[in-house]
Amino acid sequence: MLASDGVLDRRRRAFHNYFVTRFPSQEIRPVWNLLRQALLEQCEVLDSVLLEGAESETEARSRAAKVAECIDTIMDLSRWLDPSDAILTEDKIDPLMDALGPKLYAHLSQHCGKRAAPGRPIERRDLAIRALELKSVEQAPTWINIARQLCPCGEAAHDKTCVERIRRDVNRLKDVLLSYRIRIPVSRHAQP
Ligand SMILES: [Zn+2]
Repeated sequence: MLASDGVLDRRRRAFHNYFVTRFPSQEIRPVWNLLRQALLEQCEVLDSVLLEGAESETEARSRAAKVAECIDTIMDLSRWLDPSDAILTEDKIDPLMDALGPKLYAHLSQHCGKRAAPGRPIERRDLAIRALELKSVEQAPTWINIARQLCPCGEAAHDKTCVERIRRDVNRLKDVLLSYRIRIPVSRHAQP
């Protein structure tokens, strides 16, 4: 294999490789891993679209639209995977400069340092993923037990309000999963 093949391959898979490194798969995080998988698939689409040439104005426009759509999805999914990462910064997009090209890079730079999107408080996203992971097993714990494990309210005893808040977060996550056609399989409990 020629040395240049490696360079070319890196460029071909710039987004994919970047996010594989940034979000290594985690053990015992089935929902998180499925979100990660969806993000990596989107990166592959983006990587291939970025390599395509456009032969006409129309093609160039539809290619640009596809790129923008992929980037939106990638940003959305990465905000679920790393809830602390609501803010885009230059050091995060710098490694992608080559793959993005000057125009897209400039476009993304404009968003740097700003909140990426309005949404619920970001730490609730990780809580929603963890709650759904607890619920995605046979003989899943009750919602109140999940609240006892995960609710960050700080009270000694968790009540209906805590449960409702967590269920709302989980329902919102389920809508997101549905919109990306991610299905959560129910896993068997480990044998006692
Ligand atoms: Zn609580």
